[in-house]
Amino acid sequence: MNIALYTLGCKVNQYETQALERLFLQRGHTLVPFEGEADVYIINTCSVTAVSDKKSRQTIRRARKQAPEAVVAVCGCYAQTHPQDMEGLDVDLTAGTGDRLGFVELVEQAVRARRTAALDNPMERRQFEILPPGALEGRTRAMLKVEDGCVNFCSYCIIPYARGRVRSLPLEEAAAQAAGLEAEGYRELVLTGIEISSWGQERKDGRTLIDLVEAVCAAAPGCRVRLGSLEPRTVTEDFCRRAAALPNLCPHFHLSLQSGCDAVLARMNRKYDSNRYFESVKLLKGHFDRPGLTADLIVGFPGETEEEFSQTLAFLERCAFSSMHIFPYSRRPGTPAAEMAGQVLNAVKEERARRAAGLAARMERAWLESWIGRTVPVLFEEKRNGLWFGHTGQYAPAAVSCGETLHNRIVPILAESAENGILLGTPASDFSSPQA
Ligand code: SF4
Repeated sequence: MNIALYTLGCKVNQYETQALERLFLQRGHTLVPFEGEADVYIINTCSVTAVSDKKSRQTIRRARKQAPEAVVAVCGCYAQTHPQDMEGLDVDLTAGTGDRLGFVELVEQAVRARRTAALDNPMERRQFEILPPGALEGRTRAMLKVEDGCVNFCSYCIIPYARGRVRSLPLEEAAAQAAGLEAEGYRELVLTGIEISSWGQERKDGRTLIDLVEAVCAAAPGCRVRLGSLEPRTVTEDFCRRAAALPNLCPHFHLSLQSGCDAVLARMNRKYDSNRYFESVKLLKGHFDRPGLTADLIVGFPGETEEEFSQTLAFLERCAFSSMHIFPYSRRPGTPAAEMAGQVLNAVKEERARRAAGLAARMERAWLESWIGRTVPVLFEEKRNGLWFGHTGQYAPAAVSCGETLHNRIVPILAESAENGILLGTPASDFSSPQA
């Protein structure tokens, strides 16, 4: 069969789509572009915000419109949490966020038996589903899903209801997969999950995320290892000391923040206050030279006053992030925050998002400029407009002009300027050997 896949949402969804692609290829099917003609259209949906729900519905309608006779199959967080919406969208197969291996068989059966649904209760899941890792041809970076589920129940978030309790990929399996991906030629592995800071917590064997990171770094010494989003509680003196001792761990930490005001953090049911968060920032900056320190921020959370928002802005400045993702609060029916008093007007949310983005841009520029005159290794990914583009270990975007092919090579560059959020430079004089 010709199968077309479309992914919305996070790295976990992207990882699971890549695994589905590998499974369909292994079973003799052909992957075709989503815009093209296919026997089956698969949409891996997202439900992190109301906008994601809307985009998921639009993509499903697009598939049905372009191919009235084809099989339209949906999976992912939106399908898991809103199966009733699928009925009105003329979907042939509705699955959720579990049992990807079973989903592949259901897709093959759906050609004969339409209108099927295969949804379980995510809260009852206990096993981590091991899927084939790795992306299709030509990718430099591979995601390695090491954790699923979340039990933090932040008051604005629907994900625990879509993904269930914490399940972790066994450490030995993670190390084996990492070695396999290195052997396939990837130069960077991204450890991802719904909430990787919870890795191993259900196993009660005392192992934590840093044990896993050490094992993966040792199993794939020729790869850079990058961490997905972390919770501040993970960042301790012990974590930083051991992480700083890993030569191939990327000094880039995405530390989920959401607000810099303690009163707002409490209403969000986040598991830290601004002091604990700042302690993590100090520890990371103390153990790494100019680490990439990125964060997510929600503005306009219910009840957020101008005073509270000013506290957040001041806190951002104190942390001096290298880059930020800023989201206006999205009201999610079914979450406690959706019922909270003091819902903020969209115009106010947008205005606060602009102010936070302005500050984030200034911090990012200052951090990028701090690299000028220094030599830093870059993993090059692609060539555009005559320049090779890639990222440093700290996750700074970088570009050089070079006659040699740099795809999937880690090459030191001398940073000479920072323009439009990109470090520009020249390859270090002694990089010529292909293995550099
Ligand atoms: S940590 Fe909070 S925001 Fe992140 S997935 Fe869990 S409940 Fe959602």
